[in-house]
Amino acid sequence: MTEKQSLLARKKSKIVLLLINPIFNYITWKEEPNIYYYSLNELIVDRREKLMAWKEQKSDDLISFIEKLNNSEIANNEKLKQILEIQASKLIFINYPRSKENLQELEKWIRFADQSPPVLLLVNFTEKTEKIFVELKNASIVCPLCEKSWKKESTIQDGNFLCPLDKITFSQKEVEEFTEWLLDDHVKKSVEIVEYGKKNKYKIFQRELSLPTDFESEILQKSLQEQINKI
Ligand SMILES: [Zn+2]
Repeated sequence: MTEKQSLLARKKSKIVLLLINPIFNYITWKEEPNIYYYSLNELIVDRREKLMAWKEQKSDDLISFIEKLNNSEIANNEKLKQILEIQASKLIFINYPRSKENLQELEKWIRFADQSPPVLLLVNFTEKTEKIFVELKNASIVCPLCEKSWKKESTIQDGNFLCPLDKITFSQKEVEEFTEWLLDDHVKKSVEIVEYGKKNKYKIFQRELSLPTDFESEILQKSLQEQINKI
């Protein structure tokens, strides 16, 4: 095949939208050849700037502000456009899009980049591990900036939360309210995304996994990776 021919025969990537409870955002996604992971981290610079400005003013409550921020992110997300051009066998979007509206917007860009329609990967955890899930939820808190989940005991001191990753601080109350809102919002929006996916004949993969008892990131990441590889 000549170079020109190979350019013409650009292989499409498999686009996987992975929906997983944000309480598992402590997982570190290891780089894999030919797989690109897209997460909120791609937007962190802009998001930090806006959140720092919010902290100065606090004209809105944190949740209303974050809702507005999330809605505006997709519209000017140049990074997302670039990612859809990446030559990888799989592009994995972790908890993205965040809503049906986000997904509709993403679809437009997918068509623009001449990629195939995405598939949805839904991950739930077995009933047997429900107890571990509740334990994890009670012990964790999610940073409003990076949305990584952290153990409360190591990030909260004297009524304040400090994110170990981006060193931003919020009051404990703000972060607890944010965490509760985020988890509820994720469930609600995931239902809408799945309904939309069904209507539009998306391939939908539902997987049930067991939770590791010690919340080990590596074990969890490995079993999720196995599911992704099967797609
Ligand atoms: Zn953070």
